[in-house]
Amino acid sequence: MAVHQNKVSKSRRNNRRAHDALVAANPNECGNCGELRRPHHVCPSCGHYDAREVVAMVDEIDLDEDAA
Ligand SMILES: [Zn+2]
Repeated sequence: MAVHQNKVSKSRRNNRRAHDALVAANPNECGNCGELRRPHHVCPSCGHYDAREVVAMVDEIDLDEDAA
């Protein structure tokens, strides 16, 4: 079994973890539909990027399990 050569003190451990916090996403409004979207990503609600539609959106997705 591997054995620690040096015990990490609570202070050193906590100092290391001081940089571990997660940062919240910084969404922008979509220029087309106004929905919040991640910067530099295609809008998930309307499929637009840079004022043009790059992903065709389906009006209704049939999630009928019998079709599968
Ligand atoms: Zn949009």
